[in-house]
Amino acid sequence: MTPSPQTRPRLGASACLLGEPVRYNGGHSRCRFLTLGPLAGMVEWVAVCPEMELGLGAPRRPVRLLSDGRLVDRDGDTDHSAALAETARRVLPSFEDLDGFVLKSRSPSCGLFGVPRYSAGLPGERTDGQPVDRRGRGAFAEALTAAHPHLPVEEEGRLNDPVLREHFVERVFAHARLRELLSGPWRPRDLVDFHSRHKLQVLAHDPRLYRELGRVVARAGTADRRALAEEYRRLFTEALAVRPTRGRQVNALQHVLGPFGHRLSPERRHGLAGAIEDFQAGRAPMSVPVALLLHDARAENVHYLADQTLLEPFPAALPLRHHL
Ligand code: SF4
Repeated sequence: MTPSPQTRPRLGASACLLGEPVRYNGGHSRCRFLTLGPLAGMVEWVAVCPEMELGLGAPRRPVRLLSDGRLVDRDGDTDHSAALAETARRVLPSFEDLDGFVLKSRSPSCGLFGVPRYSAGLPGERTDGQPVDRRGRGAFAEALTAAHPHLPVEEEGRLNDPVLREHFVERVFAHARLRELLSGPWRPRDLVDFHSRHKLQVLAHDPRLYRELGRVVARAGTADRRALAEEYRRLFTEALAVRPTRGRQVNALQHVLGPFGHRLSPERRHGLAGAIEDFQAGRAPMSVPVALLLHDARAENVHYLADQTLLEPFPAALPLRHHL
């Protein structure tokens, strides 16, 4: 079974980011990129508010994260940690078929990085009511990332960075294609096909895991099917989690040009090589050499290259590769 080009990721999100009025003050924190941009219609959303799942309602008394990881009322008279752990045990198994998760920044429940932590009364901690540090991870985010270590997870504040945004969306769509493949009646040759389409994309992320994945796929047809799928899934998601460097992206683009460059006129070949060089030097975004390579690979009927997910890792309508 070959994954369809219209693969629709299932993306979890902190419910307030999707505009649901679940914040402690009864409001929301709608994220324009998630709800108003082209991505909005390309994914299936799964909205979750862990504090509503706790039964706290909205509006409610705000909670805070303590330095020992507990989640308490701002006044410290109610400890929600055990209830949150119970909620996580109930909710997290149903996230098995998600392709990613976007969390609300700085929230004591949902924040992924840099959440303020307050004194838990430990020796040496400040007692003036100010945070002891800003290095915490929200209680729900902690449980989510522990339960699903290979799931692409990001917080909405970091999605304002075009590089992080592109990387996250790329991982989500790759995760969805693999999930779609492995959840169906796949045959060994389907996994080989999948890998053939993704190999240059993987190469741009992590050359070592690219080689390891090649060795895994070489055992398709002889190795235990289930174990093979699990190993491939783990290594593939690990590889895509590595942020690609410009040098590796250039190397992968040159792998595209190499096999069919000789079919092109010298001017055309020179133009493609120049576009890759401009990208390498930071004078052009990746979308420029990618558009040219894709056009020429299709015009020359080099399907193996035209189908590379390196060139189209997510739907072309998502304008995520235009940054320098
Ligand atoms: S708990 Fe999470 S989803 Fe709920 S309001 Fe706070 S940040 Fe948003």
